[in-house]
Amino acid sequence: MPSSGIKPGLLRKMTVRRVLECLQEHGPLSRADLTRETGISAPTVSKAVADLLESGLLEEGMAPDHALGRPGKKLQLAQDTAQVIGVVLDVRECRVLSASLDGAIKSQAVVFSTPEDYPQLLEALTKAVKSLETEEVVTLGIGISTPGLIDEQNQRSLFSPNLQAINQRSPSADLTSATGLTAISVQESRALCLAERLYGNARGLDDFGMLDVTSGLGLGVFSGGTLLSGQSGLAGELGHVTMDPNGRQCGCGNRGCLETLATDTALAVTVSAAIGRALPIDQVIAEVQNGNIQIDEQLELVSEYLSVALAAAINLFNPSNLFVHGRLLTLNSNILKDVIARTSRRALAPSFEECDIQIAGSSKDQAAVASIVHHLTRSAGPRVAE
Ligand SMILES: [Zn+2]
Repeated sequence: MPSSGIKPGLLRKMTVRRVLECLQEHGPLSRADLTRETGISAPTVSKAVADLLESGLLEEGMAPDHALGRPGKKLQLAQDTAQVIGVVLDVRECRVLSASLDGAIKSQAVVFSTPEDYPQLLEALTKAVKSLETEEVVTLGIGISTPGLIDEQNQRSLFSPNLQAINQRSPSADLTSATGLTAISVQESRALCLAERLYGNARGLDDFGMLDVTSGLGLGVFSGGTLLSGQSGLAGELGHVTMDPNGRQCGCGNRGCLETLATDTALAVTVSAAIGRALPIDQVIAEVQNGNIQIDEQLELVSEYLSVALAAAINLFNPSNLFVHGRLLTLNSNILKDVIARTSRRALAPSFEECDIQIAGSSKDQAAVASIVHHLTRSAGPRVAE
């Protein structure tokens, strides 16, 4: 294999990344396990591990070694010595929480209503982040699950139809200035994809889709093991396909976009119109479950449009699994079955038959955490020397 073009620093970084991927996939491992799993030489693995321990991304502890029948030293993603912070930016409320590097949520989320004014939003986020920092544990960074179109390369929100306060702003750069912590914004459907692959039901899957149908409608796609981005990270905006040219006004400025018809918000809006008072989706669900309101008609319509979204994702990307993240699917146990039946009538049969449709196993909290963990592990940590 020609090696003249590869710099030693790059090789070292690749080893570091491979070690991190291995620990993310398998959990705690000894140095010997890592050498065997990665196929990289023991001294090279040891150097990478030393860098990672130094950076705070890994910690070493005693864990039961089943092969030896006694506890042995194991390396793991930091659980006690370091933490990351997840920020979920959303239309109605924001959530800020801390987690260990293996994705386990550590704190109760700080929740506040999303201010309409950007400086106020930034102030509230900064305050929440600072409240989660502790003396004992190193905070390695902040992941921000962000709605709308984001130039992820330049970390700028280009246009967010449902959260316009962040348009042309950079919440990640501003949070870094305010807190001194590395911060990264990832588009919310893409962040959910990362979470599902790291912590949810997409572990080990290379071809899957994630349809987020909460406030807006977004699609994240892993194809051949790669998260699809388009040329500047804006791919996946299935929600702004026109379904009804004369339909309801969408946050993007057009009318009748799929996201005005097939989301939690769409259901809440149509139910609110029918009963004559404005209810957010959580209250709609509570009222239905308490038997106070009946929403069969509205639910049927939203389910039909949701099946259009699912069928489109299946026809376009031929995924092995399609995960759906939405509160409306939790209304009762039959909704998913009903949506799948509708999808079967719309999608192309060979692609539909190969695709397993499930409710997403990961949350937006985990999506925010996965964004920063992915960033730190992909860039091999903030303090790792090249
Ligand atoms: Zn739209």
